[in-house]
Amino acid sequence: MSSHPSQKSADWGAKPEMSPELSIVVPVFNEAENLRPLMARLEPVLERCVSSYEIVFVDDGSSDATLATLRDLNASDQRIRAVSFSRNFGKEIAIAAGLDHANGAGVVIMDADLQHPPEVIETFVKLWREGYKNVYGTRIDRNGDSPLHRSLAKRFYWMFEQFGETGLPPGAGDFRLLDRQAVLALRSMGERARFSKGLYAWIGFASIGVPFQVAERAFGVSKFNYGKLTRFALDGLMSFSTLPLKVWTYIGLLVSGTSLGMALYYMMRTMVLGVDVPGYASLIVSVMFLGGIQLLSLGVLGEYIGRIFAEVKRRPLYLVAEHIGAQDATPVAVPFVPMSAPLK
Ligand code: UDP
Ligand code: MG
Repeated sequence: MSSHPSQKSADWGAKPEMSPELSIVVPVFNEAENLRPLMARLEPVLERCVSSYEIVFVDDGSSDATLATLRDLNASDQRIRAVSFSRNFGKEIAIAAGLDHANGAGVVIMDADLQHPPEVIETFVKLWREGYKNVYGTRIDRNGDSPLHRSLAKRFYWMFEQFGETGLPPGAGDFRLLDRQAVLALRSMGERARFSKGLYAWIGFASIGVPFQVAERAFGVSKFNYGKLTRFALDGLMSFSTLPLKVWTYIGLLVSGTSLGMALYYMMRTMVLGVDVPGYASLIVSVMFLGGIQLLSLGVLGEYIGRIFAEVKRRPLYLVAEHIGAQDATPVAVPFVPMSAPLK
């Protein structure tokens, strides 16, 4: 590819002076002590590798000094902006909001806790300039995670690979650089149950992985627990696979077919050998087995119906309580269409 992506601003109708070459989107939830160390490492990298940039923090309802720190950062550097949610909406939604508010020709998504080394962005930018529109970091190892976490994650990716509609590149996460085109594609997807990893794979575009070593979290603790992760995994599987819905047809057929065969067998047996009273055990076992299968399939239906319900309510994906850094100082290049825009 010959021309640089940032020169093709006509593609999204923005005046070049309005939009920086690169936007950095950082979801933050109680990360006050990480913000300055992050900026200290990020800024030199950006100065080195791009002509202009902006940093868009999405404060996901933090209750510590995060918001105050963001105000300070904005006061000393206008290129640092923030969108503050009215409450905690979760990282996936914070990323969606960051993409909605980013003006750059390219957008990098990264964590605030320095687990995503800012220096890798230089490689991202290089590949982006070569024409890749979806440059993702792949973690070299998950040594930072507990063995249980690692084995569950491995199982999840295996399941996704088997049953999901798109494959997930192994080790790829949110740390990535997306070209404007890919960002617009993601913005156009108004799903409530957001599983970004699946969405990144689903949009396609010229993609390439960049291996990186995940660092230790700089300050504070991880905001994810097993409950949140289970929810996340279910959202992922259910958004990208209908197999859990369909499989029950086959299991039901198998179970009913077997019980039909058993009914025939017992009829013959009774005709030949007469009535046989014992049988309570087999009866109760089969009743419970069928009951269990039915509850399970109802549960699967419930999971999907719950998601349909969440979609049809068409609630806004998130609510912004405050913008830090005047929106007109760095105007939104693409008219901001909330993901909740009602159908006309
Ligand atoms: N995060 C967020 N909202 C949440 C949880 C996390 O915006 O509800 C942010 C968090 O501030 C951090 C990033 O998402 O910048 C990754 O979170 P964390 O480091 O806790 O996750 P882990 O690295 O353990 O997967
Ligand atoms: Mg982390």
